[in-house]
Amino acid sequence: MRYPFKSQLSFKIIFTAFVLFYSCATYGQTDSTVKQLVPTPKPTSFTDKPMLIVVDAGHGGQDGSTRGLFSKEKDVALQVALLLGQTIEKEIPNSKVLYTRTEDVFIPLYERIDMANRVHADLFISIHCNSMPASMRGRTNVRGVETIVSGSGRLGQQDVAIRENASILLEKDYKDKYEGYNPNDPESFIIMSLMKNAYRRQSIKLATLIQQQYISNGRIDRGVKEQSLAVLAKAGMPAVLTEIGFISNPEEEEYINSEAGRQEIVHNITSAIMEYNKEMIVN
Ligand SMILES: [Zn+2]
Repeated sequence: MRYPFKSQLSFKIIFTAFVLFYSCATYGQTDSTVKQLVPTPKPTSFTDKPMLIVVDAGHGGQDGSTRGLFSKEKDVALQVALLLGQTIEKEIPNSKVLYTRTEDVFIPLYERIDMANRVHADLFISIHCNSMPASMRGRTNVRGVETIVSGSGRLGQQDVAIRENASILLEKDYKDKYEGYNPNDPESFIIMSLMKNAYRRQSIKLATLIQQQYISNGRIDRGVKEQSLAVLAKAGMPAVLTEIGFISNPEEEEYINSEAGRQEIVHNITSAIMEYNKEMIVN
């Protein structure tokens, strides 16, 4: 009876060593090395098939969120999101945009990203306005733009979404393996980790390009940030949340409510998506 026990123990040791080896071997490697190990989930280039983008207007309905002197975040976010969708479809060939909301309604955070997962979107972009707390001194002075990607603390929640979307991203015979996905299976474990990291890298890439575009129009750069946000946590695709300005700053409130300001913001985001696509095709 001792022999099978030994064998099981040996298996566990080999399994653990294997997983550790792969985790270490792939950590910090360049994109090209990772791509040799696994088919990296790339967003669709507009040269082969249509690109589907889900645009999410933050808040809505009873959730008005922040407000400025004369406007509410939920209304600004909706107007900018609708304009962004129109601009993307006009400027990016073969692109299609779906919205999480087109009117003033409340949609739970998880439902928003579930919509994107269900339609196997290539990108998810959430539009928000920033604000300093009312009690904060210097509240009205703070300004600038920032774009957020899901923090690594939330990576575990992406597993189901990635699994559901994986079939369209990977090779034919991979589907069978994926349906029987077992988190304890070393191969599934490694591929899942790499896919999550690939989405994270792609999200950071898009967020960086959006910030660069904002800066080119003289906006104040507050950087790309990682945060544990429920709306991004389950994304089975590259996903960003962009804060288009401080509604608590009177000058920025004017800007994000003006026609010229909105046009500039949506062109910044659209140009960033186009640049992102070009880089994904090249790489
Ligand atoms: Zn918000």
